[in-house]
Amino acid sequence: MSTEVDVAVVGGGPSGAAAAHLLASRGHSVIVCEKKSFPREKTCGDGLTPRAVKMLEVMGLGAKLDTWEKVKGLRVHASGRTLALPWPELDDFPGFGLVKPRRELDQIVLDNAEVAGAKVLYKTQVVEPLWDDGVVQGVVAKRDGDTETIRSKWVVCAEGAATKFSRLLGRERDLGYPMGLAIRQYFRSPMEHSGWFEAYLEVRSGPRALPGYGWVFPVGDGTVNAGVGLLSSYGGWRSVNLHDLQNNFISILPAEWEVNPGTVCSKPRAGRLFMGASVWPPHGPGFVLTGDAAGMINPCNGEGIAYGYETGRIAGRHLDEALRGGSSSSLDGYTRELEDVYGPYYRLGRKFVAMLGHPVLMEKFVSMAMHSKPVMSFALTMLGNLEDERVHGAGQRGMKFMKKLAELKP
Ligand SMILES: Cc1cc2nc3c(=O)[nH]c(=O)nc-3n(C[C@H](O)[C@H](O)[C@H](O)COP(=O)(O)OP(=O)(O)OC[C@H]3O[C@@H](n4cnc5c(N)ncnc54)[C@H](O)[C@@H]3O)c2cc1C
Repeated sequence: MSTEVDVAVVGGGPSGAAAAHLLASRGHSVIVCEKKSFPREKTCGDGLTPRAVKMLEVMGLGAKLDTWEKVKGLRVHASGRTLALPWPELDDFPGFGLVKPRRELDQIVLDNAEVAGAKVLYKTQVVEPLWDDGVVQGVVAKRDGDTETIRSKWVVCAEGAATKFSRLLGRERDLGYPMGLAIRQYFRSPMEHSGWFEAYLEVRSGPRALPGYGWVFPVGDGTVNAGVGLLSSYGGWRSVNLHDLQNNFISILPAEWEVNPGTVCSKPRAGRLFMGASVWPPHGPGFVLTGDAAGMINPCNGEGIAYGYETGRIAGRHLDEALRGGSSSSLDGYTRELEDVYGPYYRLGRKFVAMLGHPVLMEKFVSMAMHSKPVMSFALTMLGNLEDERVHGAGQRGMKFMKKLAELKP
């Protein structure tokens, strides 16, 4: 069977759905191939910062958010202290975060793209690109044992951390860049309505302190999502067993939270986090890469949903222009925009992560910072990449200064 569309999207996660939504809203024919049937389990912390909430609002989903579990900020636990850090008050971002299991969230966002006019093919696995004279002109997919050829003017690779399709496009993660590894589970817990993202900055494997953090996020349905993440900038990460790390982590949580082996209600699931713009350049002849496929997770906090939505929409805009004949067919404008928007901040983030790779430095840094609420509030703004257009307050001035520094010294 053969179909012809303007854009074929590989993957129906946040970045694929966002690209499809924008393109379909602008009148282009779009097919999203998603290898799983939805709703599907997705390994994630389910945490949405104000940055992600903003994107959901931009995609017209604001009305839905009212019923979701709202989060007022981050409660940080380290060095025997706890600091409650509300989200900064900003013009450009809402003042709250959310928690929504990806099983539901991804369905809602992909349905939204479908309502805008995109066609979604579930249980359809893209197996290879269609090349025509060195240019990608569509994809070959498998569904129920049948092979389908989808010819398209452009292809969006939004396959997440799967990497198979990206490799066929000649794109791979730069192994010199940091990567995250994380594991999560759901537990029944009275913390279901805590209203905070709980973050533990001390992750240990035996006596060793490791760069990473543990989290407990309130889902609001009687459960919490609890997990732990580790950075590959720690030299010995390959020898760390994530399941042991998770068990160690939950064993240090306060007993009254009831996050323990007796309240587990899902199997532990682990995944990789491709961060810091580690797949470069994220475009090529006939295609663009978005979200995790482009390695776009924020290296400072492991957040990837917002960046999936953002890069999906940026890609959608460039494809829209190309389809209208207004821009170069190589789509290098997409790569340039990602460099402009994220380049300086991600360079800074990679340096920060490299520093955290030294456990002694990390411990010193955390214990010093935990003695100052203003320092930790600034860290929340900085690590969450919550920069306002308008310069106001010390946090925003500090953030802009740091970004300028990163621009000067790549
Ligand atoms: C343990 C863990 C916890 C995390 N916690 C958070 C968090 O709390 N907040 C946050 O913001 N980020 C978090 N992240 C990161 C976040 O999950 C990702 O950044 C985000 O899912 C990226 O979206 P995406 O659309 O790029 O890719 P994905 O969400 O991975 O979507 C890719 C989609 O493509 C499909 N697919 C793959 N290959 C093919 C193919 N060949 N053909 C068809 N379909 C295909 C997959 O089935 C999938 O649905 C976490 C990650 C992990 C591993």
